[in-house]
Amino acid sequence: MQDRELYEKLLGLKEPWFVEKVSLDLSAATVTVIIGHPKGASFPCPVCGKPSPVYDHQKRRWRHLDTCGFTTILEAEVPRISCSEHGVKQVTVPWGEPGSRFTALFEAVAISLLKVASLSDVARHLRISWDAASGIMERAVRRGLARREAHPLTRIGIDETSFQKRHEYVTVVFDQERNCVVDVLDGRKKETLKSWFLAHMHALRTLESVSMDMWDAYIGAVRESIPDGVQKICFDRFHVAQYFNKALDKVRADEHRAFKQQGKTSPLTRTKHDWLRSYPHDAAFTSLARSNLKTARAWRIKEAAAELLRTKSHEEAARDWRKLLNWMTRSRLAPVVNVARTIRQYLWGIVNATRLGATNAKNESVNATIQKLKARACGFRNRSRFKMVILFHLGGLSMMPEMVI
Ligand SMILES: [Zn+2]
Repeated sequence: MQDRELYEKLLGLKEPWFVEKVSLDLSAATVTVIIGHPKGASFPCPVCGKPSPVYDHQKRRWRHLDTCGFTTILEAEVPRISCSEHGVKQVTVPWGEPGSRFTALFEAVAISLLKVASLSDVARHLRISWDAASGIMERAVRRGLARREAHPLTRIGIDETSFQKRHEYVTVVFDQERNCVVDVLDGRKKETLKSWFLAHMHALRTLESVSMDMWDAYIGAVRESIPDGVQKICFDRFHVAQYFNKALDKVRADEHRAFKQQGKTSPLTRTKHDWLRSYPHDAAFTSLARSNLKTARAWRIKEAAAELLRTKSHEEAARDWRKLLNWMTRSRLAPVVNVARTIRQYLWGIVNATRLGATNAKNESVNATIQKLKARACGFRNRSRFKMVILFHLGGLSMMPEMVI
């Protein structure tokens, strides 16, 4: 029968497997392909590869990619062999991985789709349940993690991200050299990060820098676990710049409110974004920025800090930061004075970042992707699912089933 040959070709079946029967159910728009093997065939033991006699059979079914517009199911009596060394084992079939209800090709297509679309869209498109799609994703991540070699880590970034509205956090460890997420840890506590460091000491022997926000739990973990950790901690300049932007915006909002309370026209009306954005500025803004407004002073301080954060020489940076901090302390702008206090405390790590040329810029783009994934999934019900999705999209993993690589 031609059908059988066609399906043997489509499935790329090789000895000893062949298509025994193809049965079409028109009303269900389903085609079932029954795969068999000759009686008396021997199969390799899945553990040691030694040809072993068949012990018994177990019927299994796999959903395959549609053929000719029909839902396609493969069905086979899969032999269990009896290996003299490893006992009774189910043989590995060439079209699907052990334990999966889908063929490898089906999983491969699902994985490609999951890379670009949401779980529910993929589930709908492939006509499988949401749980089944999630299962394919989970197996893909597990496969990828099992294949991943322990790369030495030289530059890493550590950042927190929330995964639910109720302020639940995970800590994302990022490999800045390979541009991928290494791991996702529960919470953002010092002890969690410490035990992760402990478990990865071998890969961390080459560590040169750790970028992070000025977050004491992370600082403590690095200090207490990594040799010369204090020399390697780098406070990311984007985070530092944010402190200045926030202080500036607070000064502007307060000053604007004060104008209005005094019944005056505020020169700050609708200028919020002008102050925060970088160049180019128009003439009206330039004259505002040169004025005696408190906001203008806070802006000049922010610009001076931005300049310092761009500096390449760390000796100059350390000296100029101290000058800027003195200026800030005397500024009589409360939000700016507060930032000065914070920066003074953490200046060592800001200067480390200049010395080591470290930045979390790439983490930020990873974080942006994480935010997008969150939006797409409408929040995550639990942490392990959230971790899985991050590793699926950002883990740099090789996740395709063995048979289709
Ligand atoms: Zn064996």
